[in-house]
Amino acid sequence: MSARIYKIAIFPGSFDPFTIGHESIVIRALNIFDKVIIGIGHNTTKTAYFPLERRIEWIGKVFDHMKDQVEVKSFRGLTVDFCKSENARYILRGLRTASDFEYERAIAQTNKAMYPEVETVFMLTLPQHTYVNSSVIREIIRQGGDASRFLPKDYKIQVE
Ligand code: ADP
Repeated sequence: MSARIYKIAIFPGSFDPFTIGHESIVIRALNIFDKVIIGIGHNTTKTAYFPLERRIEWIGKVFDHMKDQVEVKSFRGLTVDFCKSENARYILRGLRTASDFEYERAIAQTNKAMYPEVETVFMLTLPQHTYVNSSVIREIIRQGGDASRFLPKDYKIQVE
């Protein structure tokens, strides 16, 4: 009998902010993977609204009670290099719409070309999260609105 392989997935994104859509993907993915590492990338094309350190802290609090299964880290450079450094063979991404799919397909196939051992696993969003979108939620917060229904219960945004 061969030893069971410990399966680690990287869930990369900007999470600016982390939403109930992201939370649901992480929790559902734990039925497939032993550990999910939420990887906050330093996106070179997008300027973040919420500071990186705050996003790490706020997401960490959401998964505080499941530290063995969910970690939050930031990374610079390519997602595939982050996967290698974390010993992760899986990239987790959420899909909402057909346009998400087209965008994700190009990235996943490029990642596969660069690192053939990696598999991207797509998880379809729950119907009630299809419209939940970080940039729209960011705009609500920027305008002083109440976005709490779109954020995890323990996700406490403190805008200085
Ligand atoms: P990126 O800047 O890489 O697009 P995001 O933080 O916007 O990162 O999203 C990270 C991942 O979560 C992406 O795979 C995105 O498709 C997915 N995602 C975003 N919102 C939802 C949602 N409401 N339901 C399911 N997946 C989602």
